[in-house]
Amino acid sequence: MSGGVNSNFRLNISPTPLVFERGEGAYLYDVDGNKLIDYYLGMGPMILGHKPQALVDAVKSQIDSGILFAGQTAIEAEAARLVCELVPSAERMRFGSSGSEVDQAAMRLARAATGRTKVLKFEGHYHGWFDNVLWSTAPALDAAGPADAPVPVIGSKGQLKDTADTLVVLPWNNLELLTARLAEGDIAAVIMEAAMCNQGAVHPLPGYLEGVREACTKTGTILIFDEVITGFRLAPGGAQELFGVTPDLSTFGKAIANGFPVAAIAGRADLMDMFTSGGVVHGGTYNAQPIAMAATAATLKSLTPALYKKIGVAGTALQDGFREIFASAGVAASVVGFPQVFHVALGLDKPARDFRDLAKMNRPAYIALTTALMYRGVRALERGAWFLSSEHDAGVINDTLAAMRDAVRELK
Ligand code: PLP
Repeated sequence: MSGGVNSNFRLNISPTPLVFERGEGAYLYDVDGNKLIDYYLGMGPMILGHKPQALVDAVKSQIDSGILFAGQTAIEAEAARLVCELVPSAERMRFGSSGSEVDQAAMRLARAATGRTKVLKFEGHYHGWFDNVLWSTAPALDAAGPADAPVPVIGSKGQLKDTADTLVVLPWNNLELLTARLAEGDIAAVIMEAAMCNQGAVHPLPGYLEGVREACTKTGTILIFDEVITGFRLAPGGAQELFGVTPDLSTFGKAIANGFPVAAIAGRADLMDMFTSGGVVHGGTYNAQPIAMAATAATLKSLTPALYKKIGVAGTALQDGFREIFASAGVAASVVGFPQVFHVALGLDKPARDFRDLAKMNRPAYIALTTALMYRGVRALERGAWFLSSEHDAGVINDTLAAMRDAVRELK
């Protein structure tokens, strides 16, 4: 395997990449016999924790019926119905296999529906690794131009450079700049994480999402919420439910199937029906794979109010505990986000408003901290994100806080 891994996002983990044997509840067990409290949660999907029984049972029972049919199944219809019931804007939906793919489908639909080419994205927002959108996801600030007129910064060597011509990049949480740009009338879609979670947690400013919605409606621009992280995690209906703002299209992945490779695009019927009668192509050999659909239905049926309440209590206690630990150790840190996913930025003394604020966090110190935590049995993403599951109970939170209290001493 190139680099010993199968995703660039698993390279260079400090102190060393780990090899896992099994996962159970809030814990991962590696081949060296280490037991780790897991806050990666597969980079976000495992909202029910590792190996939830209802999901394991559903998958075991489905696999006895066969593997892949290239046709429709009852379990796929059940999963689709659940998505449409849970997601406020979902008049129609389609399944895909990864967040990157369904983001492509959403942008293609928007271009087809508007006859326009350009998509507007925001600095620090991630919408998958494909050429036309892997721009300015975590740009070096010395290459990124002025804050109010960012220059698109390419994400990978080998990426088609002309795709920058199909993009406009703006800072997030700045309604004035967005409204002025949309007024030019040439933007097919605005795509955003409705609450920024991938590179770090940033909340939308009060009125921002409503303002974006209004500006999009006024200019005939399709509003796409990328809910690959926020979907089914911040609330059963994702960020759009939590903030009460309705996008035209939204995309999902990660928590939709608790670790199975499932994604979805959902939204306005007139747009989604362009896949059927509007000449827009969307495909995928593995879309709605029946075993993955059994996992999807089992996951979505487990998303009860009690589950969010439980994660809410644990996630709030963990964030409050971290704030208290950093304050009493005299470490400047901003702990921001939601109980279900939050971000720790060392070196920031107030919540970030956009990517450029986040970029000022002290990354080397944070990597030293996650390394120290790993040695104390806690696995947290070096990027700063903390994902919680329903299995992170009070005992797990207390053990994590004890590890953090001890690990913070290594920062000095
Ligand atoms: N959108 C967001 C907000 C994400 O965080 C991710 C992945 O981390 C993606 C899209 C891409 O999803 P995938 O890795 O399933 O292709």
